[in-house]
Amino acid sequence: MHSNKKGKNCNTNRDSGGSPRPKKSLGQNFLNDPKVVQDIVLCGDLTSADAVIEIGPGLGAMTGRLAEAAGLVVAVEIDGDLIPGLETLCRLYGNIVLIHGDILKLDVEKDIIDKYVRPLGLSKVKVCANLPYYITTPIVMKFLEECPDLIDSLVIMVQKEVAERMIAKPGGKDYGAMTVTVDYFTEPSIQFIVPPHCFRPQPGVDSAVVKLEVRKTPPFELKDKDHFFRTVKAAFLHRRKTLANALANSSLIDANAADVCEVLEVMGLNVMARGETLSGAQFAELSNRLLEKKS
Ligand code: SAM
Repeated sequence: MHSNKKGKNCNTNRDSGGSPRPKKSLGQNFLNDPKVVQDIVLCGDLTSADAVIEIGPGLGAMTGRLAEAAGLVVAVEIDGDLIPGLETLCRLYGNIVLIHGDILKLDVEKDIIDKYVRPLGLSKVKVCANLPYYITTPIVMKFLEECPDLIDSLVIMVQKEVAERMIAKPGGKDYGAMTVTVDYFTEPSIQFIVPPHCFRPQPGVDSAVVKLEVRKTPPFELKDKDHFFRTVKAAFLHRRKTLANALANSSLIDANAADVCEVLEVMGLNVMARGETLSGAQFAELSNRLLEKKS
C-alpha cells in the first residue's frame, strides 16, 4: 500500500471501508439489500440436493446465502481483486467452489458439470446471479444455446428493460430475437422489480429478477434448429423491412423474396408482414417450410 506525504491511504483500488472499489467496466453494482438477496435465493427453489452456478459473486452478497440453501455453489468471478475475499468465504462454507475466470470463456459442461456436479451424482444445475449488465445477452444465450439440457432454471437480475424484452408478446417494440430465443428454451417470468438504491454503486436504471424455467420438451418441432435461429436473427436485423425483404437480403439464410411471400401466403399471413408480428411457432413453420422448398 502506498502513502502520500501526509500519510493518507492513496491506494485507489480500495474504498474508505477497505473494500475493493467497484469497477464500472466489469458491471460491478453490488447488492447491499439483504432482503433482495434473500428473495432472489428463494426464487431459486434450492434444496441441499441442488448444485447452483453463481456468475459474478462479487463481494459475496449472495454466495453465502446460496451455500446455505444448496448442496454446492460454483461461483465464477473474473475480477482478481475480489478473489481473496471470496476465498475467505469459501473457507467459512465447505460447499463453495470458486473459479477465477471469465464465464463466457468457460465450457460449462467440461469445466463445471463434469468436474464438480456429476461427481455428486447430479446431472443438472440451477443458475442464480446478479448479472454484469454489459454482457447479459451473451451470458443468457451461452447457457441456453450451449447447454439447455444441463440447466434446470436461471434466476437472474437483469435491467428491467431486458426483462421486458424476455417476456414480450409479438407486435410490440420489446419483441425481438431474444424474446423468441428465450421463449423457445424456457418459460420466462418477472419475479420482482429492484430499484437502484438496493445496489452500491447505484445503476442508472431499474432492475428486475427474472426466472427462466428451462423447458423439458421444445414448444414446437424444428427441422433445423440452426436455420430457425438464423431466420429469426435475419428477421429482426432490419425491423423496418418487411419479412420478405429482410430474409431475401440477408446472408444468414438462403431464401428469395418470392419463396418467402409464397410461404407466408400458405401460412395465411400478410406478405407485407414484419418479423415482429410472428410468434415463435410461426417462425418455426416459416423456417421449416423454407427448408422444404430447398430440398
Ligand atoms: N453477485 C454480486 C452482488 O450481487 O453483489 C456482484 C454482482 S455484479 C452486478 C457482477 C459481477 O460479475 C461482478 O463481481 C463482476 O466482477 C463479475 N463479472 C463481470 N464480468 C464477468 C465475467 N465475464 N465472468 C465472470 N464474472 C464477471
